[in-house]
Amino acid sequence: MTCLEAQSKIIAYIDYNLDKEQKKEFLRHIQCCENCREELDIYYTMIEGMRQLDSNQSLSEDFSVKLSNRMEHEMKQSRKKRSLLRSSVLLLVVATFSAVMIGYVNFLDMLHQDEQAKLKEAQGQYYYSRTFKELMFEPEEIEYTINVESTEKESTFYEKVRQYNAVN
Ligand SMILES: [Zn+2]
Repeated sequence: MTCLEAQSKIIAYIDYNLDKEQKKEFLRHIQCCENCREELDIYYTMIEGMRQLDSNQSLSEDFSVKLSNRMEHEMKQSRKKRSLLRSSVLLLVVATFSAVMIGYVNFLDMLHQDEQAKLKEAQGQYYYSRTFKELMFEPEEIEYTINVESTEKESTFYEKVRQYNAVN
C-alpha cells in the first residue's frame, strides 16, 4: 500500500469502514510509515475530538494513546486469527494424513485378506485333490488305509473291553 492509498483510507479506518483485508494492509503500512502514522494521529484527534464536543463530552486526555490501543488491539486480533487459521490448516493436514493412512491400512488389510482367501482356496484345492482325487482314482488304497485304521480302532476297543472283563 502506498502513502497515497493509506492516506485516502484514514477516515474510513477511523469510522470502522474498512474491510478486513484493507484494514490489515492499512495497519501494516501505518506501522512502518512515520508520515502516515502522523497523518492518522491528526485526523483521529480531529474527528474524535469533534465527535466528543458534538455529544457534549469532556475531551479525552490523549487521543494518540487511544488510537495506539485501538491499533494494537486490532493487530492482535488479526494475529490471533492468523494463528487460528494456521492451526486449523494443520488440523486439516493431520486429518487428511490419518484418513490416507487408514485407507492405506485398509487397503493392505484387503490385500492380505485377498491373499489369504487365495491361499485358502489353493489349500482347499490341494485338500480336495489330496482327498477326493485319491478317493476317485485310487479307491483301493484309500479303502485299505481306512480298513487298517478301523480294524486298529476296533482291536484297541475290544482289547480294552477284554482287559476290563479280565480285571472284573
Ligand atoms: Zn505512508
